[in-house]
Amino acid sequence: MAEFTMELNDEQKEVRDWLHGFAADVIRPAAAEWDEREETPWPVIQEAAKVGIYSLDFYAQQYFDPTGLGIPMAMEELFWGDAGIALSIVGTGLAAVGVLANGTEEQIGTWIPQMYGDVNDVKVAAFCSSEPDAGSDVASMRTRAVYDEAKDEWVLNGTKTWATNGGIANVHVVVAVVDPELGSKGHASFIVPPNTPGLSQGQKFQKHGIRASHTAEVVLDDVRVPGSCLLGGKEKLDERLARARERAKAGGERVKNAAMATFEASRPAVGAMAVGTARAAYEVALDYAKTREQFGRPIIDNQGVAFQLADMRTQIDAARLLVWRASWMAVNGKPFTAAEGSMSKLFASETAKKVTGQAIQILGGNGYTREYPVERMHRDAAIYTIFEGTSEIQRLVIARTLSGMPIR
Ligand SMILES: Cc1cc2nc3c(=O)[nH]c(=O)nc-3n(C[C@H](O)[C@H](O)[C@H](O)COP(=O)(O)OP(=O)(O)OC[C@H]3O[C@@H](n4cnc5c(N)ncnc54)[C@H](O)[C@@H]3O)c2cc1C
Repeated sequence: MAEFTMELNDEQKEVRDWLHGFAADVIRPAAAEWDEREETPWPVIQEAAKVGIYSLDFYAQQYFDPTGLGIPMAMEELFWGDAGIALSIVGTGLAAVGVLANGTEEQIGTWIPQMYGDVNDVKVAAFCSSEPDAGSDVASMRTRAVYDEAKDEWVLNGTKTWATNGGIANVHVVVAVVDPELGSKGHASFIVPPNTPGLSQGQKFQKHGIRASHTAEVVLDDVRVPGSCLLGGKEKLDERLARARERAKAGGERVKNAAMATFEASRPAVGAMAVGTARAAYEVALDYAKTREQFGRPIIDNQGVAFQLADMRTQIDAARLLVWRASWMAVNGKPFTAAEGSMSKLFASETAKKVTGQAIQILGGNGYTREYPVERMHRDAAIYTIFEGTSEIQRLVIARTLSGMPIR
């Protein structure tokens, strides 16, 4: 177990500086263009692949860093560059983690390389859980997976929505219901291999922010995948379902809503993305306030502006500390007795929304235009309080964890 530290070691500092260089030199200059185009920035993903940022190796190295600071540090730097482009770069990693966490060694070895493709032909992956009627309420998921024993195949039917990289992914990871009686305990995850008949992209969403990241519906119409595509394998699933049925029969453990009980360990990563966007906007505002003059002096000479910057920086640093604590806890297997993962995501995402709004105010009319990046950053920041569990769901999880009561 690694002791909690607030300081990056020399190796981490080197990685951070390297990522910052990529974010400053490659991502940030491309941000406005891809935001306008509202398309996946394939050339930027390819650049990231060339230097080794877009790869399983890089992601896994940060993911398994025992200090827990690898992922938050990487997310903060990339999202400092631009949130939409960074999400296009790390979106595959989020799908890959689903396979790393639940897949067999063979599944990991077969599918993760296909999620990334290679430097000359980069690919992306998608994680499809949300549905039109199952957002926060994951337990009401309807997409069904039925086992066809004669052919050793699973048949998937349903509609997924809001899938990052949905429809353009080489590999889709799809969560589906295998036993409707068991609520979220009756869900399982499946790999849908490239070019599988029956999987198609539905509506592509036109969004408020993170517009360089592709978000779409994924329609599953009699999609047949081999038995080997069930993550973790059939034996493990059957054991898990049998245990869940026993518990349900005994009336002991309530079948809980997955969105409210899980994700505690992955939420700090989203908090770190929010810290990156907030820090980017704060830096632009600080520079601007020092150089913009009104009434014969820089606007930062006014307490009304300077105090806002003081609050912005204080909240960003506080958010980072919550994120680092939760990431350290996750990597070192510490129990989240106060829902510290949700806490970090809640505070960091609300901070990003607030700080980017304040940055617009400090830039005045310029802040409101697309000549300056804070307008985009403010639009981008709004996603952090929505995906990976909304702020309300984070509060629900925290309140239930603290009180032990079934708060609604
Ligand atoms: C850009 C983008 C990318 C995404 N990427 C993915 C992805 O890759 N894969 C994936 O599976 N999903 C993805 N999502 C889905 C995302 O996780 C959901 O949008 C989110 O969980 C909220 O679900 P919903 O949109 O259905 O909102 P709803 O659940 O309908 O919520 C609407 C409002 O009601 C509030 N609310 C709901 N229940 C309660 C309650 N019990 N108490 C208090 N308030 C409540 C919510 O907080 C929210 O304010 C993405 C979404 C977006 C917008």
